[in-house]
Amino acid sequence: MGGKKRWQPSVLVVEIAKIPVEGLPLDAEIPATALHLPPLPDVTVRTPIRIRGLLSRVTDQVYFDGRIEGVLQVPCSRCLEEVTTGFCVETRAVYLPPGSELASEVEAEGEELDLYQHSGNTVDLHELVYDQVVLAVPVQPLCRDTCAGLCQVCGGNRNITPCTCQEAEGDPRLAVLKRLRVPESS
Ligand SMILES: [Zn+2]
Ligand SMILES: [Zn+2]
Repeated sequence: MGGKKRWQPSVLVVEIAKIPVEGLPLDAEIPATALHLPPLPDVTVRTPIRIRGLLSRVTDQVYFDGRIEGVLQVPCSRCLEEVTTGFCVETRAVYLPPGSELASEVEAEGEELDLYQHSGNTVDLHELVYDQVVLAVPVQPLCRDTCAGLCQVCGGNRNITPCTCQEAEGDPRLAVLKRLRVPESS
């Protein structure tokens, strides 16, 4: 055995019978690869992803109440430079027994619960964590609020080399068309 830290890929798969009445605290770190994420375009999920919370059992339903934390790298939506962004999401999910009707979410005491299914013997949190990571991907990430973006004309990064392209007065061909516009008939 080498001295290297070995990940335990099964840490997010819990035997339901081992969840006591008072609940089972979970504090785990998993490598991003353990999620078997379908590749998210342009998004790098850093390792590890941390999952903390409590698993509890009510009859044949299993609840997870906790938070999922991690770090993502995404390109700036204006200049395409890499942006590193942390996320920490609170999540509540319920795992129903196999064969249950699955709506996408239910309301419980006014709170949203994400719905999943357990196998009957085990509850697998991978899909929940995956879904939360996907939701955490920012829609329009910016490297900074004042990002000047890429020049539409020369393609240069205006944060690094301010170019003078934007001073050009529109497209000269359009200017010609304007002059050709037929006067309105009377
Ligand atoms: Zn930027
Ligand atoms: Zn330019």
